[in-house]
Amino acid sequence: MDLSGLWRSVLGELELNTSGAEFNTWFKELEIIALNEEKITIGVKNSFVKNQMRKKYADKIKSALKNNNIDAKIIDYVVVSTGKKTVVNRETTATPSNQPSTQSPVTNLISNSRVSSQTSGLNPRYTFDNFIVGGSNDLAHAACQAVASNPGVKYNPLFLYGGVGLGKTHLMQAVGNEIIKNNPNARVLYITIETFVSEFIAHTRAKKTTGFSEKYRNVDVLIVDDMQFIAGKEKTQEEFFHTFNELHQNNKQIIISSDKPPKSIPTLTDRLKSRFEWGMAIDIQMPDFETRCAIIEAKAALSNVTLEKETVEYIASNIKTNVRELEGALNQLLAYAEMRQITPDISIAEGLLGSVRSSRPQHITPKNIIDKTAKYFQISASEICSAKRSKDIVMPRQIAMYLLRSELHLSFPRIASELGRKDHTTAMHSIEKIEKASKLDLVVREQINEIREKIYA
Ligand code: ADP
Ligand code: MG
Repeated sequence: MDLSGLWRSVLGELELNTSGAEFNTWFKELEIIALNEEKITIGVKNSFVKNQMRKKYADKIKSALKNNNIDAKIIDYVVVSTGKKTVVNRETTATPSNQPSTQSPVTNLISNSRVSSQTSGLNPRYTFDNFIVGGSNDLAHAACQAVASNPGVKYNPLFLYGGVGLGKTHLMQAVGNEIIKNNPNARVLYITIETFVSEFIAHTRAKKTTGFSEKYRNVDVLIVDDMQFIAGKEKTQEEFFHTFNELHQNNKQIIISSDKPPKSIPTLTDRLKSRFEWGMAIDIQMPDFETRCAIIEAKAALSNVTLEKETVEYIASNIKTNVRELEGALNQLLAYAEMRQITPDISIAEGLLGSVRSSRPQHITPKNIIDKTAKYFQISASEICSAKRSKDIVMPRQIAMYLLRSELHLSFPRIASELGRKDHTTAMHSIEKIEKASKLDLVVREQINEIREKIYA
């Protein structure tokens, strides 16, 4: 665990607790300069950001630091001019082992992102190699690989959707990196839709007639992240529509991500909605327990740490929200242990994650799952629990059983009894059936996702 890992975890926390636009504007480019027991020094782009951090975001920063176990009394900001490499004061940085490292992880992180963002917007950190595949993301992963090896041919556009921190940006960036690896001349451009929006507005204000469209239309691969933020922006939607058409007609690959499927993005014009549905729309879900363990192990290995199985399983079973939080928890554990020069084990994990766990919603009960499922299918909870065998009741009942298992890990007999049944083998078969269906049938998958969202809402 190094300082940059710890900082990523702080930024991850801030990203989760602010809107996308706010994060990109204020927090994304914060850098960690130094840290000791007394004081943390944070690098900012200019004095405006510095003021803003002090005045408006002091509490947010404080709590993000605190949640990562940084309890420095003084938070100091220094303006770091762009282009210059950050000088890391080793004496005051948290390198408990005191081993001289040839390359500071912090400067390393910074130079990577600067160089890449100037050209394609791609960050070389995101590759297929370091993406762990499991049942929750295998479809998305496969589609991304297909696109990477044959851009513009299949799945155009490729539309990935799912909640925050589940790997959409990682996968899309991996496609871009892979395409450039295979063909260094390929023109790949990664942007967030917010960049597109703000450039478009600036361009329109300046009353320029050239420049904007060309930038986005002269590429081989256009990757657009967080499309949900185009909602309500009519003129930008129109401009994007034309960009899309031009690229698509010329068989250029378009990859889009959003937190919801095209049809659920509010105020998206019908013509854009239909364009987005032309290719392939795939969801990404929270990885299952085994995949979460694999992710933790892989990330720990990157920091040259091998954790005991019980520690890995403890983290994986307590963090079920998203991969970013999973990474955050691991980073916290590694940082904590490293600063104190102790071995990260389950007892430390328990101490650190106790607070995370208790802040999770407690309202998810079997009754809640059954009610939400019934409501979704517009039937009553008593019908789900009844003996009725008509199709419009059986399927919701099976889905409720599936969710009781996936969300609450109830035993089969318990699931049967929650639904007023004696025989637990029916519960077992129903759950198996829905498990299969959720892999093969996109409608079922979608229904399950939507109910899950309602359960956690
Ligand atoms: P999203 O764009 O969906 O909000 P990100 O792509 O930013 O999520 O992922 C959040 C973090 O979790 C990133 O650091 C990413 O590398 C990591 N991550 C997500 N899914 C995986 C995975 N399957 N394997 C390895 N790392 C993952
Ligand atoms: Mg993202």
